[in-house]
Amino acid sequence: MRAWARAGLLTTACLAGTVAWAQAGPSAPQVSTVEVAPGIAVIFGLGGNIGVSYGEDGTLLVDDQVPQVFAQVQQNIADLGAGPARFVVDTHWHWDHALANADFGKDGATIVAHENVRPRLVVGGTVMGIDTAPAAAEALPVIGFSDRLTFHLNGDVLDVIYTGGGHTDGDAIVRWRNANVIHMGDMFMHDLGWPFPDVESGGNIDNLLASLEQAIAMMDAETIVIPGHGQLAGRADVIAFHDVVKAATDRIRALKASGASLQEAIAAKPVTGMVDTSGAFVSDEMFLELVWASLEASGS
Ligand SMILES: [Zn+2]
Repeated sequence: MRAWARAGLLTTACLAGTVAWAQAGPSAPQVSTVEVAPGIAVIFGLGGNIGVSYGEDGTLLVDDQVPQVFAQVQQNIADLGAGPARFVVDTHWHWDHALANADFGKDGATIVAHENVRPRLVVGGTVMGIDTAPAAAEALPVIGFSDRLTFHLNGDVLDVIYTGGGHTDGDAIVRWRNANVIHMGDMFMHDLGWPFPDVESGGNIDNLLASLEQAIAMMDAETIVIPGHGQLAGRADVIAFHDVVKAATDRIRALKASGASLQEAIAAKPVTGMVDTSGAFVSDEMFLELVWASLEASGS
């Protein structure tokens, strides 16, 4: 087993835990770092996994978790020998990935995100039953992009790419070209059951599948994949995730096309047993409802 995979087993980073914390209040969360490649690390903690590029040109973070662990995340960044964050790239607007924007923004970081992220942060909203207040000025992206943005940083080229979203309408993936590392945001969660096409945030299951296919095409057998949540992964894990999500979506699509109502589809339990939902935060029924809503929204 590779060193990063072994270390990843010791970390706890799943949204189910994050939600439990958000409901119960903070209690000494664990923040840990795994060095993925020279000048690249991932910080596991409370919320989405943070990708870190660091070196002589400064520090860039991919996502920033939540204010409750801001000081710990800063400490973990310093422990890498890295400077304060110069840039934060939000993979999307969800609170467990972007709520510490204000802290990093006040600390001098420039926030960067897809152009659909800023308006959602300005308004706020409810995700997974947890309210997000309208963001402070310091939390808002200063630089937006529509399709692609490129950083030349720390000896590598980082592509920030919009593949059409699917988890929301503003998902970015970040690819280190030379190091062959990809941060997938929440379009890929590793060993945490179903994805979460957040229809209320412009997510859609067909866009998610298409985005996964584009991302897989950028990977090879050596690619190190940083998931939005869960342990580090590789291309085979993303392919397996895509395939089961596609198979489940096809089952739901067929039921809908046959004229079944949503209630009849739920009763048929078409996706039960396809993935392990213990520890997951999207149940079989919730996934079915989100796929159903996706298909309705796209008129299919
Ligand atoms: Zn998310």
